Amino acid sequence: MENCIFCKIVAGEIPSNKVYEDDTVLAFYDVNPMAQVHILVIPKAHLESVAAITPENSRVVAHCFEIIAKIAKELKLEEGFRVVSNCGDNAGQSVKHLHFHILGGQKLRLELC
Ligand code: 5GP
Ligand code: ZN
Repeated sequence: MENCIFCKIVAGEIPSNKVYEDDTVLAFYDVNPMAQVHILVIPKAHLESVAAITPENSRVVAHCFEIIAKIAKELKLEEGFRVVSNCGDNAGQSVKHLHFHILGGQKLRLELC
């Protein structure tokens, strides 16, 4: 997708600090961390947000969550972590390419809205 920052990261046009990569999923450190550990897990194929998930494309979402569990284990986040996906303007989604934030490495405040 043209002018999508995360598609450019997938294409290697914008550098990123990668944590994991395979054919369909990429994980990299957030450039502006909101917690001690802040990683983004994205499908390589452009999907706008959670609202664009369908029976036809949901397999990659399940795979994203498998990778989230794998990364949490590898980074020893056994004391807990949070997975967040902002969907749409009211939620503050600033990059319109589906992504899951992994937040951890510290005690997180309980702020849901
Ligand atoms: P959102 O606000 O859409 O839920 O999250 C987008 C996230 O992407 C933000 O936490 C922001 O810091 C991160 N981000 C935006 N541009 C870049 C970039 O070029 N590289 C990396 N690594 N993260 C980015
Ligand atoms: Zn994209």
